[in-house]
Amino acid sequence: MKLTLLGTGTPTPSLKRASSGYLVEIDADVMVWDHGPGSHHRLLEAGKRATDVTHVFFSHLHYDHCADFVRLFLSRWDMGADRIPELEIHGPPGTRSFVERLFGEQGAFAPDLTARIRHQGSIDIFEARGGKLPRRWPQPKVTEVRPGDVVKGAGWEVRFGAASHVQPYLDCHGMRIDAAVGSICYSGDSGGVAPGIVELARGADVLVHMNHYMSGTEPTEIYRLVCGNPIDTAHVARQAQAKLLVLTHMLEQIDQPGVREDILKQMARIYDGPIIWGEDLMQIPIAGPKLARME
Ligand SMILES: [Zn+2]
Repeated sequence: MKLTLLGTGTPTPSLKRASSGYLVEIDADVMVWDHGPGSHHRLLEAGKRATDVTHVFFSHLHYDHCADFVRLFLSRWDMGADRIPELEIHGPPGTRSFVERLFGEQGAFAPDLTARIRHQGSIDIFEARGGKLPRRWPQPKVTEVRPGDVVKGAGWEVRFGAASHVQPYLDCHGMRIDAAVGSICYSGDSGGVAPGIVELARGADVLVHMNHYMSGTEPTEIYRLVCGNPIDTAHVARQAQAKLLVLTHMLEQIDQPGVREDILKQMARIYDGPIIWGEDLMQIPIAGPKLARME
């Protein structure tokens, strides 16, 4: 199992940090967990193409977690030319209508899909890519999931736990994959010390947690319960006894030399496991960091 951080940023435009996206590879399954702006470009940089992706999981439908899904979905359908299975999509309630309103027969992209299915020029390209006529409308397999649900795959299962974010306007959850080789838990967007995320992350080999802003600078207490900060994140990792903590979803405010080191020092007083300052395209070791030998 392999975890690559595609986007470790926020909604703030950044060339350094794409918005939220993670790549989880296990055997033949290539999963994208969230796909915010910029993270599709990172997927290509990670050596994968849309046609390689088998599953998409959404933590919630804030645009910084799903706007690049349009690119992934259309590119996969177009380049896949009927040669690959339909995409499996798992997300919170609202995901089905989100997908339908984009790619359904009355959806925003229906005229594009219709043109690509019917225009002779597009049909020619489809056949040149190995497609067999008639070209079919995309039929993604969408499953809406809630905290407590379990999705089983080939040698893995993904569970969901309640995040503390912007409910009830958007359903928001974290997710965790367990396989023989280990476990990865992702908080989604979650602030404070969310009991649902602590429970979900219990004993995980890797906990990837939102770490949006500097502790103590939150404008209000409600904001604190919506967006993760280092002190609360350290308490989540400690209570869950996660084996490795990866920080993500970081504002420029905390992403500064000197500030970073200070934050890590504060967190280490609470959580005694290793902490990784996440960067786009970083590959995270599942079984814990290993020291390289000196030659
Ligand atoms: Zn969010």
